[in-house]
Amino acid sequence: MTNIQNYINGQYVNPIQDNWIDNSCPANGEVYGQIPNSSKEDVETAYIAAKTAFPSWSQTTLDERSRILIKISELLEANLQRFAEAESKDNGKPISLAKAVDIPRAASNFRFFGNAITQFASESHESIGQNAINFTLRQPIGVVGCISPWNLPLYLFSWKIAPAIASGNCVVAKPSEVTPMTAFLLGEICNEAGLPKGVLNIVHGLGSSTGQAIVEHPDIKAISFTGGTETGAHIARVAAPMFKKLSLELGGKNPNIIFADCDYDDMLETTVRSSFANQGQICLCGSRTFVEASIYETFKSDFVEKVKALKVGHPSDEHTNIGALVSKPHLKKVMQYIDIAKEENGTILCGGNKVTVEGYENGYYLEPTVIEVPTDECRVNQEEIFGPIVTIMPFNTEDEVLEMANKVKYGLSATLWTNNLKRTMRMSNQLQAGIVWVNTWMMRDLRTPFGGVKASGVGREGGFEALRFFTEAKNVCIKY
Ligand code: NDP
Repeated sequence: MTNIQNYINGQYVNPIQDNWIDNSCPANGEVYGQIPNSSKEDVETAYIAAKTAFPSWSQTTLDERSRILIKISELLEANLQRFAEAESKDNGKPISLAKAVDIPRAASNFRFFGNAITQFASESHESIGQNAINFTLRQPIGVVGCISPWNLPLYLFSWKIAPAIASGNCVVAKPSEVTPMTAFLLGEICNEAGLPKGVLNIVHGLGSSTGQAIVEHPDIKAISFTGGTETGAHIARVAAPMFKKLSLELGGKNPNIIFADCDYDDMLETTVRSSFANQGQICLCGSRTFVEASIYETFKSDFVEKVKALKVGHPSDEHTNIGALVSKPHLKKVMQYIDIAKEENGTILCGGNKVTVEGYENGYYLEPTVIEVPTDECRVNQEEIFGPIVTIMPFNTEDEVLEMANKVKYGLSATLWTNNLKRTMRMSNQLQAGIVWVNTWMMRDLRTPFGGVKASGVGREGGFEALRFFTEAKNVCIKY
C-alpha cells in the first residue's frame, strides 16, 4: 500500500479530519493506497503556508528562482524511472509513454520556465512630446490555485506550477484524485531542490470538495484549471463574482483532415498515434478523421490494419501500445459510445470490445476502435469521448470539410495533412481551433501559446502567455 499525504509548508502531513479515499490501479482494478480526502481546513492551512511564503518568494531574485526550477527539472530527470513507473501504475498509461513523453516533458516544463522568467521583459513607452515615460511592472498575483486532470498527470500539473512559481507566486495545487502519485512524489524533489517551504502546497482530494474549496477561497486570486468543459463552466460561475483571474483549458473534439496530396506513410503512422496515444485520453487527440474521397477506401483498409496490430496490454510491458483506461466509470462512459454509434448506424470497423489481459482480468482495457460514421452530426462525432475511439468519414471538397471540422462546440486543436501551401494557409486561417498542426501532431515548442477557443477554454498557457497570466500588469506613467 502506498499512502499519500498532503504537501504543505514543505512537509508531508495527514488531512486534518483524517478522511481518506482509496487509490486504485487501472491495470488490475486493485486498491493500492489511500489519498487524503482534504477538507476546507486543509486548503486553508495550505493557503496560510503559501501566503506566509509569498513576501520572501516574490522578492527572491530571478537567478535564484531560475536555479531552483532548473534543479527540480534535473532531479526529475535523475528520477525518471521512478516517476514513470508511478505515473504508469496510477494512470494505466504504457510505461514506454511515461518514460519517453510524460516525465521528460514535465522536467522540460520546469527547465523552460526557469529560463523563461529570466527573459521576461517589461514594456516601456515614451510619450513623445509630453515629457513622460510609461513602463509596465509585471507583479506576481500572490497565492494562486492550480487544478489539473488525470490524463497527463505530472505533465499538466507542472505546466501550471512551473510558470506560477517562476513568476513569484505561491501555489495551492490539487492534482486529480484519480492520479495523485507523481504530484505526491514531486514534494520530495522540491525540498531537495531547495524550494522554500510554502511556495508550493499540494492538497489531495475530490474535485467537488477540495477543488471547490480552492476555487471558493476569497484570497486565492487566480485559478489555472485544466479539465472537462462542464467543470470549467462551473468553476467560472463560482470564480466570476470574486473577479478572479481564470485560465481554463477544457475539452476537445479535434478534426484530423487528410487530403490526397499528403505524404501518405507519414500521415498514416501519425494518425494511428494521434488517435490512440495514451488510450485516446489526450485533449489533443484527433478524434474525428476526415479523409478526401479519392483515397478514402485505401486509407480505411490501411488504417484499420494498423490499428488492429496495436498491442493492448499491461502498462508495465514495454511492448504495450494501448494500456488501461484510467478508471472503471471512465471505461463505462467510453463504452457507452460504442452502443450509441451502433444506434446511430455507425459501422464498427475494428475494436469495440473490452479486452481481458491475462493475469489482470479486472483491469480497464478496451480495444482501439474505429467507427465509420454516416454523418458528421452523430453524437460520436460531436461529443468528447476521451478514449480509444476514433471516427472516420470521407469528404469531397475543402469547403465541405472545413464546415464539418468547425461544426462542433469545441475548438482546441486541428491537424491538417496536405502539401498544398495555399490550402494550408486558407485552412489554418479558417479552422476554429487554438492550435493547428500541419503534417505533424503534438509537436511542441514551449514558447508557443497553447489553448482553445469556444467550449475548449479561455486564455492561453505556454511561453510568455503563461507568465502574463500569472502576473498583474501595472503601468507606471512618469512625467519628467
Ligand atoms: P474534470 O473536469 O473532471 O477534473 C479536472 C480537475 O478538476 C480534477 O483535479 C478534478 O478533481 C477537479 N475538479 C472537479 N470538480 C471540481 C470543482 N467543482 N471545483 C474545482 N475542481 C474540480 O476532468 P478530468 O480529470 O476528467 O479530465 C479530463 C478532461 O480534461 C477532458 O475533458 C479533457 O479534454 C480535459 N483536458 C483538457 C486539456 C486542455 O489543455 N485543454 C488537457 C487535458 C485534459 P477530481 O479528479 O477529484 O474530480
